[in-house]
Amino acid sequence: MMRSQATWMGNAISAGLLFLVGLAAAANSAAQAPTPVPAQATAVAFGPGNPLYADSSLPFHAPPFDKIKDSDYQPAIDAGMALQLDEVGKIADNPAPPTFENTIVALERSGQLLARVSNAFSCVTGANLDDELQKVEEYEAPRLAANQDAINLNPKLFARIKAVYDQRNSLGLDAESLRLVEYDYQQFVKAGANLSEDDKAKLKKLNEEESTLSTDFMNKLLAAAKAGSFSTKDKAALAGLSDQQIAAAADAAKEHKHEGWVIPLQNTTQQPDLKFLSDRAARQAIFENSWNRTERGGDNDTRAIIARLAQLRAQKAALLGFANFAAWNLTDQMAKTPEAAIQFVDALVPAATARANREAKDIQALIDSQHGGFTLQPWDWEFYAEQVRKAKYDLDESQVKPYFELNNVLQNGVFYAAHELYGLTFKERHDIPVWQADVRVFEVHDADGKPLALWYCDYFKRDNKNGGAWMSQLVNQSKLLNQLPVVFNVANFEKPAAGEPALLSSDDVTTMFHEFGHALHGMFADTRYPSLSGTQVPRDFVEFPSQFNEHWASYPAVFDHYAKHYKTGEPMPAELKAKIEKAKTFNQGYDTAEILAASRLDLDWHTLPASAPLEDPDVFEKAELQKQGLWLDAVPSRYRSSYFLHIWANGYDAGYYAYSWTEMLDDAAFQWFLDHGGMTRANGDRFRKMVLSRGNTSDLDKMYDAWLGGKPSIEPMLKFRGLKGEE
Ligand SMILES: [Zn+2]
Repeated sequence: MMRSQATWMGNAISAGLLFLVGLAAAANSAAQAPTPVPAQATAVAFGPGNPLYADSSLPFHAPPFDKIKDSDYQPAIDAGMALQLDEVGKIADNPAPPTFENTIVALERSGQLLARVSNAFSCVTGANLDDELQKVEEYEAPRLAANQDAINLNPKLFARIKAVYDQRNSLGLDAESLRLVEYDYQQFVKAGANLSEDDKAKLKKLNEEESTLSTDFMNKLLAAAKAGSFSTKDKAALAGLSDQQIAAAADAAKEHKHEGWVIPLQNTTQQPDLKFLSDRAARQAIFENSWNRTERGGDNDTRAIIARLAQLRAQKAALLGFANFAAWNLTDQMAKTPEAAIQFVDALVPAATARANREAKDIQALIDSQHGGFTLQPWDWEFYAEQVRKAKYDLDESQVKPYFELNNVLQNGVFYAAHELYGLTFKERHDIPVWQADVRVFEVHDADGKPLALWYCDYFKRDNKNGGAWMSQLVNQSKLLNQLPVVFNVANFEKPAAGEPALLSSDDVTTMFHEFGHALHGMFADTRYPSLSGTQVPRDFVEFPSQFNEHWASYPAVFDHYAKHYKTGEPMPAELKAKIEKAKTFNQGYDTAEILAASRLDLDWHTLPASAPLEDPDVFEKAELQKQGLWLDAVPSRYRSSYFLHIWANGYDAGYYAYSWTEMLDDAAFQWFLDHGGMTRANGDRFRKMVLSRGNTSDLDKMYDAWLGGKPSIEPMLKFRGLKGEE
């Protein structure tokens, strides 16, 4: 299913790399694009008859999904936007002098109806879409963007925020309140609120051009990916693929109206089928289709667009008073400066490339032992690495799955770890309405028995559900608004036949722990202001709690507690356990080097000064990566500049490093636990108190360091990735 993430799922948090990067999703995530507005708007009365009209009377203010009809959303969203604009207008036009209470706190109290409705709406559009909801989504997306713009660009509102900001240190504010003033001010300034009218007009023009170019880039990329699919009438070219994969290729050919077989292009440089294809010419053709997809001249070539995008972003940053785009865009991130991000990336390069080179040698030896008679190329890597993997640590999922029964993993793994670390207990509730019959609800209690949160899980794949997995909220925690958190996890696990157990893969288990880590971040939120609560933290922090929670999945005391055969209750055999562990560090030289190359490219493009000329993407890319030691013959960047969707159109501009950065944070955090006695309540409570409950209420860098007792090091990350020393 192809749907927008960016529009409605803005605050949902997805699992790992693959979720946000689907080309299909991107094509529709054009929140910035001038979307034509369907003319089906009819004013529907919004009143007490609408179940979203009043705050929910259910426990934890849970949405009454049993009463909400699809047709209730649009009038509620419209009313929510109108009310928010009205509330914000009153704050901006208040004749009384600006104070923290009448401006900053008043803003925190505004928009509650819209938040309530949007949370429920984004939940159902993400997890249980139908045609009517999709129509409402398409209709409302541009209106919501315009509503937000009207607030962000209200000069009277900004003047009041600035007035409070200017006197913030003499107002006797507590630390969280002070942080909120600074946060609000920073967000407005970042968007250009401080500029002269002249410069605002210039910025607006640059923003418009950027938005047009991004949309253009996405459209070209989508067309390029389509045009780049590998098509053949010779079945021999598909040797190595399974019958199922060949059938899929035949289906794809029908879809593309081609004879024979088609292998569609995926968004990353490497293509999944390269693992299996034994025909070297086919592998090379597929790889080159991928690598050159947007560099063939003609309509789908994106090079001129990205060169201009990089340049105009640098110009935008200069207008806003920054040396480069990354410097501007990282002001509200944990890393704060491009220098910090670059230093981090560069520190990983030697170990990653050394390991990648060693892996390349192993692969070359394998090629030679099979009398291949050629030098390893990027299109050979996956094919031979797969052979090494199979020989060394092949995991037969059918052997593993019986030990990962869903409910057992949930109760005796995910919940168990949360109990041991934080004292939480979980009670399933069958009386809370859900959006679909498979959804389960648990009331979460603290160690002292007090209710903490409501948590929903919607684990099974449906064809009206977005791909991947994510966490989001139905109610945001806030002491100001007297709200306890209501959060949910969504995934796409195979649904078993009626009466059969749901058996998970090892990846599924990791996903469960990951999303539950986000959920803990949301449920432990203990802040006054909703804007700073829970998972509302920068991109280079938000994946830290979730990835941290993944570590407990393989922590022996947890693993042994849940990994039991669903029929016999027998623990997993040691040999199988060892294989799972070993498989984790396989091919990590390659994986790390390709992601570092992409991260570095992103930072290179976005640290260009405004005075830089239009760059030739190919020349620039190669020169920069060579300079960083990341231009490896057999290890291309995970994305080439010309098809790097994340940074040109998906909101990860100057932010791709965040994937690895948060890994450094979670690995260093887990190492801290290991060094301090492992899974203990004392360790868990300390982590919860100093990190997980704090949202964005203080400087994240300082918060993290205070908890860790120093700066995070990359050493644990190198260790867990298996990049340290010999294997
Ligand atoms: Zn995540």
